[in-house]
Amino acid sequence: MTKQHKNYINGAFIDPTGTMIPVDNPATGAVLSEIPDTPVEQVDAAVEAAKGSQRAWEALPAIERAGYLRAIAAKIRENVPEIAKTIVEEQGKVMGLAEVEVGFTADYMDYMAEWARRIEGEIITSDRPGENIFLFRQAIGVIGGILPWNFPFFLIARKLAPALVTGNTIVIKPSKETPNNAAAFMDLAAQVGLPDGVVNMIYGHGSTTGNALCDNPDVGMLSFTGSVDTGVRIMEAAAKNITKVNLELGGKAPAIVCADGDLELAAKAITASRVINSGQVCNCAERVYVERAVADEFMALLSKHMSASTFGNPLEDQSVDYGPMINKAGLDNVAGLVERAKAAGAEVVTGGEIADLGAGNYYQPTVLAGVAQDSEIMQTEVFGPVLPVNVVDDLEQAIVRSNDSDFGLTSSIYTRDIGAAMKACREIKFGETYINRENFEAMQGYHAGVRKSGIGGADGKHGLYENTQTHVVYLQS
Ligand code: NAD
Repeated sequence: MTKQHKNYINGAFIDPTGTMIPVDNPATGAVLSEIPDTPVEQVDAAVEAAKGSQRAWEALPAIERAGYLRAIAAKIRENVPEIAKTIVEEQGKVMGLAEVEVGFTADYMDYMAEWARRIEGEIITSDRPGENIFLFRQAIGVIGGILPWNFPFFLIARKLAPALVTGNTIVIKPSKETPNNAAAFMDLAAQVGLPDGVVNMIYGHGSTTGNALCDNPDVGMLSFTGSVDTGVRIMEAAAKNITKVNLELGGKAPAIVCADGDLELAAKAITASRVINSGQVCNCAERVYVERAVADEFMALLSKHMSASTFGNPLEDQSVDYGPMINKAGLDNVAGLVERAKAAGAEVVTGGEIADLGAGNYYQPTVLAGVAQDSEIMQTEVFGPVLPVNVVDDLEQAIVRSNDSDFGLTSSIYTRDIGAAMKACREIKFGETYINRENFEAMQGYHAGVRKSGIGGADGKHGLYENTQTHVVYLQS
């Protein structure tokens, strides 16, 4: 019988009720498990449990709360191969990347646990004699964590770890595409003796379960990672209750290649950034601006590396660079964008077609030349292994075109000129810029987008404090 996952509410796994949603392997189409489409009453019960346990949880010393995070991290490390295989089966990434994701998740839990002794308030000078003004950082209350499917295991930690160490409790809703690894996480977390209600996991569709979580007035912050369209819907729901939102949304990362840059390094790093996880990464290089003087040389290198990228079922062939796309809708979206770009005059340098491997959703590694700045494919998030390239006169034009986007998450530049690099740092209006390296953020940084890429951010001190609210106290002595 197909495995049926159970919601975890108030310290107990609850037998599923109502409609079940099948979960499949994107490489084969085989059904792997089923999850409940959690109805409003159970969503509300999960929030109620989180609310009920929050006061006592916040009252624990932060270092004790951190102990639970470390215990979960240790359990994760004991189960890396099993969890990685679960991710590969339901999400389609290659095994090496899945293992990195699982290890990074454990490290992230430990990293956030380290903050337990470093959560600091402020003492502010008063205008009045004998008065002290204190600014405390306190928990918000219940966090609603809504997750995408592309780094599904890590994103649990990115929501849960900073929330818990700062004294919040949490209700997590994984993507319906990738709930199996979330169930594995919950199985491990349930073994470390967390007080009931501190962590709750509910499964379902966004339009039902996710929406019910957003509608609940007892959720103090909605911490969401996903698409811009869903981010808009979440803000609309949050507006009804004036619920704080933390939104990590889509990207359209520009990669600027300067004439003085290391072209081989740039071509390799941009290729790696574009094919990793089949191009389904928010911070991936999504468009290239190359200076005219080196455009032909760079295009030849980029085309060589992109066309050499291999793909296939990652459970059958562990040597492939990337696996299937998450589903048919994702594949059709990429194919449609490329077809319309071709119709608008883009030249296919390599790839440009769906790859038929019999089963699974695969797209060829693709480079498009002659793509206009205002074209759909230069402006829309592709989320697949496709790179449109635009030739620019100089760095100034590359910066202007980079900023000419609804998105503002990550960006990169390849140059040996420190002046050019610093100009880009000052003038590129993005949350992150990578200079002469691939796009991949550090847990001690701050991953945050501007414009439609989001509100607020995650990681590091600033991400931690997103999970707190201030409380100012005036003490007259
Ligand atoms: P998605 O927006 O389709 O779904 C994300 C989550 O939102 C899912 O759990 C879904 O069930 C839920 N959801 C959908 N409708 C909802 C509603 N009305 N109310 C509440 N919840 C709802 O995104 P996806 O396809 O899972 O992920 C891909 C997107 O995520 C891409 O745009 C990518 O750029 C973005 N992403 C961003 C970051 C970042 O850090 N900025 C990281 C990873 C992915």
